[in-house]
Amino acid sequence: MALARLQMVQQQLKRRDVENPAVLEVMGRVPRHLFVPVRFQGDAYDDTPLPIGHGQTISQPYIVASMTEKLLPSKDKHILEIGTGSGYQTAVLAELFGRIDTVEIVPELFVSARSILSELGYTNINFHNGDGLKIPVEPKEFDGIIVTAAPERFPESLPARLAVGGRLIIPVGYSHQNLMLVVKESQDKITRRDLYPVRFVTLQTRD
Ligand code: SAH
Repeated sequence: MALARLQMVQQQLKRRDVENPAVLEVMGRVPRHLFVPVRFQGDAYDDTPLPIGHGQTISQPYIVASMTEKLLPSKDKHILEIGTGSGYQTAVLAELFGRIDTVEIVPELFVSARSILSELGYTNINFHNGDGLKIPVEPKEFDGIIVTAAPERFPESLPARLAVGGRLIIPVGYSHQNLMLVVKESQDKITRRDLYPVRFVTLQTRD
């Protein structure tokens, strides 16, 4: 598995555009195979998303690395993740940032991600079960927000949850999605940039 993981870093990440050495090191270390169903463990380091049950998927390794890199990793940052899913992206974030709050809407995925991440020894993650756009999570403002399911339209409520200088990475769209990077330049200036086309599961809403 360790060899397959290093090949993944070489062939899928470095050959594309992932450059941050800390991100590459962590991607070469976090055991992705422990986050996928047993029958897919042999495919865990392939260049593809995989099913994790409940109609959801674990993101392709490149997407996990690329989204993480766009948040500019630093141990003094506190990150909000919406869409815990398997917990793999959460593990990568927890290695590179100081603290993570992660929200998952499907109760079974919330439970399984929390248990694997605790088993692996992570102590800087707070887990929440609910709709990430709606449930109150402290602090009110984060240094970075990552959304791993796609809303049809950009959620205008999210930039308010970013600290000044904070970055938000989110897939947006329905039949055609783009990965969008949002930077909160100042209290009243936000810039948005489309990065590249992606294919994510749909962000669900709950009242
Ligand atoms: N990063 C995860 C991606 C999982 S897919 C991984 O690599 O495993 C996206 C996840 O977002 C799914 O688990 C889905 O249930 C969850 N989700 C969808 N809408 C949500 C919402 N409004 N709030 C929180 N989680 C949500």
